[in-house]
Amino acid sequence: MKFRKYLRGSGRVLAFVFIASVIWLLFDIAALRISIINDVNQDLKEREIVLNQGRRKNNVQDVLKHPLQKVNIDKKEFLKNRFFNVFLSEQIPIDRAIPDTRPQICSENLVHDDLPSTSVIFCFVDEVWSTLLRSVHSVLNRSPPHLLKEIILVDDCSTKDYLKEQLDVYMSQFPKVQIIRLKERQGLIRARIAGAAAATGEVLTFLDSHVECNVGWLEPLLERVYLDHKKVVCPVIEVISDKDMSYMLVDNFQRGVFRWPLVFGWIKGVFFFFLHRCPVMAGGLFSIDKSYFYELGAYDPGLDVWGGENMEISFKIWMCGGEIEIIPCSRVGHIFRGDNPYKFPKDRVKTVERNLARVAEVWLDDYKELFYAQNLISMDSKTDKLINKWCECWDRIY
Ligand code: UDP
Ligand code: MN
Repeated sequence: MKFRKYLRGSGRVLAFVFIASVIWLLFDIAALRISIINDVNQDLKEREIVLNQGRRKNNVQDVLKHPLQKVNIDKKEFLKNRFFNVFLSEQIPIDRAIPDTRPQICSENLVHDDLPSTSVIFCFVDEVWSTLLRSVHSVLNRSPPHLLKEIILVDDCSTKDYLKEQLDVYMSQFPKVQIIRLKERQGLIRARIAGAAAATGEVLTFLDSHVECNVGWLEPLLERVYLDHKKVVCPVIEVISDKDMSYMLVDNFQRGVFRWPLVFGWIKGVFFFFLHRCPVMAGGLFSIDKSYFYELGAYDPGLDVWGGENMEISFKIWMCGGEIEIIPCSRVGHIFRGDNPYKFPKDRVKTVERNLARVAEVWLDDYKELFYAQNLISMDSKTDKLINKWCECWDRIY
């Protein structure tokens, strides 16, 4: 038969790989869909209805029409230094409604009824009042109470007055929220380590302090960690416009990758039903089993201020038996700002480069040469060849 000749030699190997992939995919989908015990969606719908009833007016267009001059505020002042439209943010309710951007199938998914609880950790330095509150309220309002053990706010030695007593007083009305004050500026990485040390939930969920968690964001994350405690899971990061604060759907599924010299980026992923495994995570938003976090050695406390920690934790995860996934049913909006709105105690570029060099030295073995080589050439001269080198490295790590 003609068909038989294709099943000889490498054809046989290919056929085997193809069948194995299909079986693997079916198992993975089954693990997601068969793990059915409790229909959380009814709960979700009810919670959103209650929320919507209590909501105040939330029309961004109305707020945009608001003449800035009338309140004697220079728009530029608000954009300057904070790198997004703080004025508008202050006008929008801290518990505003946002569109449910999940793929439709998500609202039919079921999860186990004995998922682990999580501690949500927000580290912040000089965060804008309204965005910090909106982040916290979105977690309080859109997380099932029995899965939310606590919210830990780690104040990385902010200088703004409103983040002191005023914040303490405001948060005292929410028993699940606690604030940790760092005496000296530690930077994002050590602030996260401090938050994790105080956490009592089984899973750690790290979030930036200018996000809005969408409907049903938490359950699919915890479900994956429940199924395998070495899965480290990220929501799809959606965009809250830095200009008009609108919440924007991210509709093409993307994977987190890095290019030399350890520069994070996104590439369009293949839509594999539900799963998006990533070489590296963006770093700001993810859930990880607490014991696995410590098994990995947490973060390197020698990393300063910001940058490189996403590479560090990603390499550790893959090299220590774990996996990084983006979960399309979990969606969290994030304000992407043009620049860091806080000071770096030392030079910004040098700080980030030093962090990355630390990560390369510890985790990349001989591939660190690629990091150093690419650090010397200009970013514009990246070619496909470099991307191939990245693939080689990734294959080895994987
Ligand atoms: N952050 C911090 N200490 C620092 C730098 C950053 O606590 O020294 C916090 C910051 O307030 C934010 C999070 O770490 O909540 C991530 O920082 P950022 O949003 O600037 O990172 P990006 O989203 O730009 O990657
Ligand atoms: Mn951020």
